[in-house]
Amino acid sequence: DGLPAVTRLEENVYEIERSGEMRVPARIYASEKLLEEMRAPGDLTLKQVRNVATLPGIQRFAAVMPDGHQGYGFPIGGVAAVDMESGVISPGGIGFDINCGVRLLRTNLTYDDVRGLENDLVGALYRLIPTGTGKGGVVSIGLDNLEGILESGMMWMRDHGYATDADLEHCEENGRLPGDPSKVSEMAKQRGVKQLGSLGSGNHFLEVQRVAEIYDETPAAAFGLELDQVVVMIHSGSRGLGHQTCTDYIRRFEKAYPTVAASLPDRQLIYAPLADSLADDYRLGMYAAANFAWANRQAMTDAVRQVFAEFFDDPTVELVYDVCHNVAKEEPHEIDGRRKTVLVHRKGATRAFPAGREEVPVAYRDIGQPVFIPGSMGTHSYVLCGGPESLERSFGSTAHGAGRLKSRTQAKKEYRAGDLQRELREQQIYVRARSGATVAEEAPGAYKDIDEVVRVSDALGIGTTVARLRPVVNIKG
Ligand code: 5GP
Ligand code: MN
Ligand code: MN
Repeated sequence: DGLPAVTRLEENVYEIERSGEMRVPARIYASEKLLEEMRAPGDLTLKQVRNVATLPGIQRFAAVMPDGHQGYGFPIGGVAAVDMESGVISPGGIGFDINCGVRLLRTNLTYDDVRGLENDLVGALYRLIPTGTGKGGVVSIGLDNLEGILESGMMWMRDHGYATDADLEHCEENGRLPGDPSKVSEMAKQRGVKQLGSLGSGNHFLEVQRVAEIYDETPAAAFGLELDQVVVMIHSGSRGLGHQTCTDYIRRFEKAYPTVAASLPDRQLIYAPLADSLADDYRLGMYAAANFAWANRQAMTDAVRQVFAEFFDDPTVELVYDVCHNVAKEEPHEIDGRRKTVLVHRKGATRAFPAGREEVPVAYRDIGQPVFIPGSMGTHSYVLCGGPESLERSFGSTAHGAGRLKSRTQAKKEYRAGDLQRELREQQIYVRARSGATVAEEAPGAYKDIDEVVRVSDALGIGTTVARLRPVVNIKG
């Protein structure tokens, strides 16, 4: 079938041995079942991770997380760390939706407080927060303010009354990377300026959930989570601004490096050497787009606070944490017994740093970083904690979702929105989406088995299970 041969190293760990142009082996973290799904006819995951292993400066191995599936250049669920001098930066290793990510809000409400109000609540959230790929956001800003947001992300949001200090403390990188707004094109800015506080396309969502099960009391308590508590999960990214930024730099890289483009095993892997100024431009533009994504998730958090204040008496809505799952960042890692700074690409992969890492907020440092892995609108989602094995196994990373199993086209053929809505309602789940097509594309059956993905993460010790969340109310992008 032309797929690379895979060797089993241990339970849930597979390897594609180094051969040909590969500079390092490829590592696949999956159960047998998940590996089979990566090998399904037409799925390019294994070829793509083998291609990633050819990148200049790549360290140790190219990795795929348990939810891995095929993406643009890199697989989604791909992790690659590169040397800061000899390495490269590849937009395909970050994704079009720069700093797409997930945040979780905890409240002082229980499921009983929300029961009976679901329909009104889903309506209120849906009216306030724009969904779909069109224009419009909860917060109106002009181009001058956009510069501030691109420069300082969550800091700008705090300085303008949309975020608290506690929000910043509970956000990866405190919600700001050192971005440069001048490295983001005018076209990208035009796309972004009207979209601050908007969900985007159908895989993005804002979901009111209840804590359905606690697996580990200590981290759950540290994250402020209890059984039956109401929490809110927001999955969104940098909207048109990030997409345009990725597109712009792919074009610029292709133009600047025609020989590289021609020699790559896959043109989608196009990159810039980190030693070149074009790589710096992309990195600073990508960081600016990441800042926009944090501001976007924060704007929707502010909207949730407004809606909850209308529905409930003195609700508290606090940020547990906010994780990026499409980004590349400089991080110190131990490589061949030596600590050195590398650029870690995570595309559809979540950072999952264990206890002790100084990047983890003080409140969670003895516990490990909170990790959020959404499942689907009809199944459940998980809270995990960065695991003790994550640094060694995956440069401190784990999965970012269940991962798509069926294409949108296939899902639209197989599922009917009306049936799905009825089944969800029978399970007390209230979903609002812009169209029936969105509901069908996002059918729970279109995604892989979230329980299996999380089980593998836990068994490997890269992200350990803390709690399980059930959807209550969901607005789809
Ligand atoms: P991605 O970032 O690749 O678009 O998606 C992240 C993950 O979110 C998907 O792999 C899927 O498991 C999950 N997901 C998609 N839609 C929903 C939803 O409506 N609710 C929840 N809880 N998870 C979802
Ligand atoms: Mn996204
Ligand atoms: Mn995402």
